Amino acid sequence: MLKDNLRQAGLNQEVKHHERYGSISWVEIESDWAYWIDPESFSLKRVKKRAPVGAIIIVKTRKKLDDERTYVDSSFGVVAETGMAELTKREASEVLAKQVFEYMRGSKHWPPFMSLKRIQQSGDVEVRFEPNEYDSFVLLMTRKIVGADPIEFLNRLKKHEAPQDPSWRVETAKSGRSRCRWCRDFILEGRFRIGEPYFYEGSLSYRWYHPRCATSRMDVNELENLDGYSELSPDEKQRLKRLFTQ
Ligand SMILES: [Zn+2]
Repeated sequence: MLKDNLRQAGLNQEVKHHERYGSISWVEIESDWAYWIDPESFSLKRVKKRAPVGAIIIVKTRKKLDDERTYVDSSFGVVAETGMAELTKREASEVLAKQVFEYMRGSKHWPPFMSLKRIQQSGDVEVRFEPNEYDSFVLLMTRKIVGADPIEFLNRLKKHEAPQDPSWRVETAKSGRSRCRWCRDFILEGRFRIGEPYFYEGSLSYRWYHPRCATSRMDVNELENLDGYSELSPDEKQRLKRLFTQ
């Protein structure tokens, strides 16, 4: 009964969430291994203590089979103001379908990680959502959610446009904890570090290099195109150039 109430609270919360996106409230979530699905990008983000109200959560648990082999089990929930409310995968998919519709209506584009799976006899459309190689959802875009014929609505959307490749970055190291990917030494705090972009769990991250070690991967002429370069002082720009040409 309590669980049903929670579940209801979570689902109602999700609707409210759309009405005031932008003033997101974050809720403490306790979990060793969980992701929240960002309703603005549909990428999975690791839950680090908190998640925004309305977001769908995937909780991962490592389980053991009788023969000692392990596998990863997923359970689902939605972030409510009172914490996480458990959902079945079907319920989580219903919430996601509404979030996807909001995205589509706002952007007039297909969201990332989505493809058309099947058109049901009723005219409802099954959309496959695969944010990574392990997680997959079937989202049912119904006439009720779309408020019109789902097929016509989906046909008018433009294809998802992948954002441009992010550029390499330069900054001064904020701590001495990062290691250079080339020489494996630590990069001292306050020294320049050059970042090679990559995506980790859907978010932009960097592999860091000492400037002299980055010369193996990029050219001094590219310095000015680095993200963060324009924020350096003239003196810093000079020093960086010297490090590259030494
Ligand atoms: Zn190095």
